[in-house]
Amino acid sequence: MVSSHGISLSTRGDNDVCDITDEVTGAAKQSGARNGTVTVFVPGSTAGITAIENEPGMVRDLQEFLERSAPAGARYHHNHGGDSNGHAHVRAAFIGPSLTVPLIDGKLELGTWQQIVLVDFDDRPRKRDVTVQIVGE
Ligand code: ZN
Repeated sequence: MVSSHGISLSTRGDNDVCDITDEVTGAAKQSGARNGTVTVFVPGSTAGITAIENEPGMVRDLQEFLERSAPAGARYHHNHGGDSNGHAHVRAAFIGPSLTVPLIDGKLELGTWQQIVLVDFDDRPRKRDVTVQIVGE
């Protein structure tokens, strides 16, 4: 069967890291599936989904890495049209918009120190609607 669920959240933008592990786990449970594949996807080209150890030091490390890799103050062709978030689009493309997690015997196969996070790269607060789709039985 296929079951789709939505997670809505407000972010602060600027590399805000939001832990959505509990919501994804809840959606998988609600689907009733015991085994299958859970896909977490964010529509929009200035946010991403990944998995990290969600502790303050690691969050800062990730944020600093993104700032080094695609600095907000660098020149972006995208910004020539009046946009100011070229760096956000590049960071989003690098991290990617989705994550797939196996569901085995009713449990997401995540490591103990592996949380599912949405990272919002945009240069302003945003409302995000994440889709969680479970394909399984
Ligand atoms: Zn843009």
